[in-house]
Amino acid sequence: MRIVLVGPPGAGKGTQAAYLARNLEIPHISTGDLFRANISQGTPLGVQAKSYMDAGNLVPDEVTIGMAEDRLEQADAAGGFLLDGFPRNLKQAEALDVYLKGKGITLDAVLDLEVPEDEVVKRIAGRRICRKNSAHVFHAEYSKPKAEGVCDVCGGELYQRDDDHEDTVRKRLEVYHSETEPIIDYYKAQELVVTIPALGKVEEVTRRAMSALG
Ligand code: ADP
Ligand code: ADP
Ligand code: ADP
Repeated sequence: MRIVLVGPPGAGKGTQAAYLARNLEIPHISTGDLFRANISQGTPLGVQAKSYMDAGNLVPDEVTIGMAEDRLEQADAAGGFLLDGFPRNLKQAEALDVYLKGKGITLDAVLDLEVPEDEVVKRIAGRRICRKNSAHVFHAEYSKPKAEGVCDVCGGELYQRDDDHEDTVRKRLEVYHSETEPIIDYYKAQELVVTIPALGKVEEVTRRAMSALG
């Protein structure tokens, strides 16, 4: 399966992607996680991305599209993938279409995680992620680690993302509405969009997504 996950920051994309990718046995590709890994390794790409991320803006397309395509190549896109956080604007969606067309493949579905804005704000405020691997995600109230401040998966230290502080969150939500939401109509025109109500327990949302995929 070749799937794109969309939804506002904090909707639960990363959390759902981890379970869906495992169930479907496809690689989980998160551009946010790729940027954070580059930042923690101090690569030139990370240095370039950080100022945009800290301001709550999108990293420029030239950088992002190249990085996403490299990762798709590495994953062997034809075998399936779950994209989380890419594409995030029309330019990226069009670039992905061109890339897939070049491979003679298409997307199977675009899952749109729907969560009210007040819930998204609560999810982001409590989000804690692992220093060693930002795909290991917890929540201070909803998904507590067994030991406070310590990642259950790998023992890494948990921390709050720089861009999860309140002023940046407001900016990221604005960017989501103005730049990312238009891709939902773009994919609706291709009849790929399935809306998943994403309130409720993590497992319940996973079940809804799995049954939507058939
Ligand atoms: P969230 O899951 O909270 O929406 P992500 O981890 O997906 O956040 O992304 C964090 C930040 O990384 C974004 O605010 C943006 O600056 C950058 N980023 C991630 N994916 C993209 C993308 N496809 N295009 C541009 N910037 C991106
Ligand atoms: P995104 O990748 O869309 O930004 P995350 O998967 O990182 O979102 O989830 C944001 C926060 O909300 C995390 O702290 C996560 O533990 C929590 N979370 C995810 N799904 C749920 C859910 N169904 N109910 C409550 N909290 C959730
Ligand atoms: P890999 O390095 O092979 O990609 P990871 O170290 O990222 O594996 O994660 C190990 C497993 O734990 C993955 O299957 C991932 O989906 C899962 N995982 C990620 N976050 C959490 C979490 N908060 N709680 C439980 N399992 C998680």
